Amino acid sequence: MGADRRVERIAFIGVGRMGGPMAARLLAAGHVVTVFDPSATAVAALTAKGARGAASAAEAARGSEIVMASLPSPQTVRALASELASVPGIAVFIDLSTSGPAASQSVAATLAPAGIAAVDAPVSGGVKGAAAGTLTLMVSGASEAVARAKPLLDQFGRVVVVGEKPGLGQTLKLANNLMSAASLAIASEAMAMGVKAGLDPAVMIEVLNASSGRNSATQDKIPKHVLNRKFDFGFANALSFKDVRLCLDEAEVLGVPMVVGAAVRQMLSITQQQFGADADCTELVKVLESWAGVQIGAGEEK
Ligand code: NAD
Repeated sequence: MGADRRVERIAFIGVGRMGGPMAARLLAAGHVVTVFDPSATAVAALTAKGARGAASAAEAARGSEIVMASLPSPQTVRALASELASVPGIAVFIDLSTSGPAASQSVAATLAPAGIAAVDAPVSGGVKGAAAGTLTLMVSGASEAVARAKPLLDQFGRVVVVGEKPGLGQTLKLANNLMSAASLAIASEAMAMGVKAGLDPAVMIEVLNASSGRNSATQDKIPKHVLNRKFDFGFANALSFKDVRLCLDEAEVLGVPMVVGAAVRQMLSITQQQFGADADCTELVKVLESWAGVQIGAGEEK
């Protein structure tokens, strides 16, 4: 750690696919990190790297001026904020989850009377980006709190401060995830049609990526996680469904109709019903495959 960097005592709540590698980066940078997660396996992966484990979020937060969270839902983030409000000594709460602007605003209001500043810092870049420190962070919050958070967030990737109003970072994250999910849905439809007509899916991907149809599904999810039939992108369909629901809720509050977004939400709902809550987001492709009666990639399987 450089001489200009202070060692922070950080509580990290929720050390799953994203939080785990992010907490590991803080440890590698020399910070003192205490973690809480109901999953013993998730905690063990971090204690093996030098983190302390705690029996609750409040216990992890005691003695930490900074608390970070990477949690699965707005409900868990709101519940955490209520728990933290009675823990003395916390200066800044940083929410790295995709929890939506309404939760950010309510979290900021819950924490303010306790003198805790809230920063929302949702991330994009996936599990690989979390491990490599190449995420994009969409940050909003009071400038003093953001300045305290920034050297820590720099460990995770590129920090873009989008404003002071709580939830602005979340709104941008929801816009991104709506587009990402829509890209996968529309690419799945196009690929199913092409394969049914007799095109080679690898050739389709090569041409699409050199043409105006390219998107994050054709560039990454389909070639690296679908054509090999591994469906292991690492982002749960249930989380993508949660993000698109939050996005449509926010759009409705703002008076912005989302016709295409509503269709994408239905595709994510169907994927969840068909493949379960733990399905990877790339399994949406299988819905199109079952409707079209084709398989996209690795022709010998099935
Ligand atoms: P995950 O399910 O792998 O991790 C969530 C962790 O939170 C789990 O280890 C779980 O045990 C823990 N947890 C659940 N309830 C808890 C509670 N009350 N207190 C403490 N810990 C609790 O999910 P993830 O993929 O790491 O996603 C975390 C957040 O990051 C979500 O909001 C998601 O939308 C967002 N996100 C995920 C990705 C991705 O590619 N996976 C990318 C960007 C953003």
